[in-house]
Amino acid sequence: MFILPDLSYAYDALEPFIDAQTMQIHHGKHHGGYVKNLNDLLPDKSEADLEEIFSSSTDQKVLNNAGGHVNHSFFWKILGSSGTPNPKIFELKEEFNKKALTIFGSGWVWITQNLKIIATPNQDTPKEKVVLGLDVWEHAYYLKYQNRRAEYIEAFWNIINWELVNKNLE
Ligand code: MN
Repeated sequence: MFILPDLSYAYDALEPFIDAQTMQIHHGKHHGGYVKNLNDLLPDKSEADLEEIFSSSTDQKVLNNAGGHVNHSFFWKILGSSGTPNPKIFELKEEFNKKALTIFGSGWVWITQNLKIIATPNQDTPKEKVVLGLDVWEHAYYLKYQNRRAEYIEAFWNIINWELVNKNLE
């Protein structure tokens, strides 16, 4: 069985940058939906099977929901405002924001462990090891920011869990 992970902070902990209602729907309904779909599609599998699913499944529905589950599980962890901002990552901020702004449609933008900025469409997962990522699907920001994706991207920099991002860089 696949399990929706609990957040280590309250839904309103990222206010005013990400509002509680967006977090509640994003975590509970969107991520929750990916988990439910995965359990419906693969009733005998669990988190431990994800690697095998990514390497061998050709079912796009399975891959989309597995990707959504993995991407969001990672995303919740790198949010939460703690630790000291990393200057090496901050150097990439402008380029990261530009990439996040210009993704057409739904997708994610990431910083890899060797400090490259990459984007993935839809719920594709990055092939490289990443230290942080940002969900730029409209569901991640629309309630508060509507079409102002640039403001959401800028706000993201205030709510990063630097403790974890710095650990991911090691
Ligand atoms: Mn999302």
